[in-house]
Amino acid sequence: MQQKTSERTIFENEIKKIISGEPCKNSEVTLSNNQSILTKFVAGCDGRNSKVAKIGKFKEINNTYNQTAATFTVTVNNLEETSAYQIFSEKGIFAIMPAPKSSGKLTHTVVWSIDNKRLKDTDIESYVIDNINYFENKLGTKIKIFSKILSFNLINHHYQSYVFNSMVLIGDAAHSIHPLAGQGINLGFADAQVFCEEIIRGFERSHEPNQKLILKKYEIKRRSLNLAMLKSMDLFVNTFNSNNLYTKLIRNIGLSSVNKINFLKRLFINHAAGNNKI
Ligand SMILES: Cc1cc2nc3c(=O)[nH]c(=O)nc-3n(C[C@H](O)[C@H](O)[C@H](O)COP(=O)(O)OP(=O)(O)OC[C@H]3O[C@@H](n4cnc5c(N)ncnc54)[C@H](O)[C@@H]3O)c2cc1C
Repeated sequence: MQQKTSERTIFENEIKKIISGEPCKNSEVTLSNNQSILTKFVAGCDGRNSKVAKIGKFKEINNTYNQTAATFTVTVNNLEETSAYQIFSEKGIFAIMPAPKSSGKLTHTVVWSIDNKRLKDTDIESYVIDNINYFENKLGTKIKIFSKILSFNLINHHYQSYVFNSMVLIGDAAHSIHPLAGQGINLGFADAQVFCEEIIRGFERSHEPNQKLILKKYEIKRRSLNLAMLKSMDLFVNTFNSNNLYTKLIRNIGLSSVNKINFLKRLFINHAAGNNKI
């Protein structure tokens, strides 16, 4: 399989056009070098700005969180090598996670979601530099920025359907959520697993992999679960951003209860680690 896969992997090329037949018919894919490929189905696994989704004119639904995420690499002097931390605060949602060693040094990646209102009078780099000591104090460590500070607008998206004729969307191509969940890749893995299971089940019953029933089964099994995760993260972000006193009170009680009740804490940790497949 490995050999066949490498024989059939095409680099330095892009999909230019897809003529997608009704399910059960082949699709014709034209690449940027004008090579034409006939295939039973096209699975778009090309991330948040999926070209396959654009070519297929899938109907997108998106929503901005009015937040900007800053992401960069840091070195720390006093954090556990194998632990990730997430701090919910007025200064934003700050996540710090262990990353592979760089030049022998222990590094961490930071993903810091900041309300756009806080960035009205300052740029993101100055905001990060001016406020990082708040999290140093919270974590009891010195944090040294090690890389460029990259930033992007936080937007979620999903599609009304994951299947159109013989085109299928998988992973971030089909849906993306707020990074606070730490769930993006797990949802994508679960999509890929269910998609493969459906193809294999169909194969065992002598069904072609592009039969509508097979592709749709994948969509039915995954779309509602992905949407539930996306909506629950939206609720979480909205609750967190709310200035309503009662909402704030309930949120704070909720967060500290999760922190104190081991069973709930473990449930959240297991979800973030992908152990409880949603
Ligand atoms: C800052 C940040 C932090 C995150 N933290 C976490 C986390 O802690 N936990 C977690 O689970 N998730 C996290 N995520 C989300 C996670 O990275 C994504 O959900 C995951 O990478 C999606 O995987 P994917 O394979 O679907 O898409 P991608 O990882 O986006 O991969 C798509 C691939 O397709 C390629 N591609 C794109 N367009 C084309 C084209 N036209 N032709 C050919 N190839 C193309 C791209 O180069 C890329 O290699 C984070 C995301 C960000 C941005």
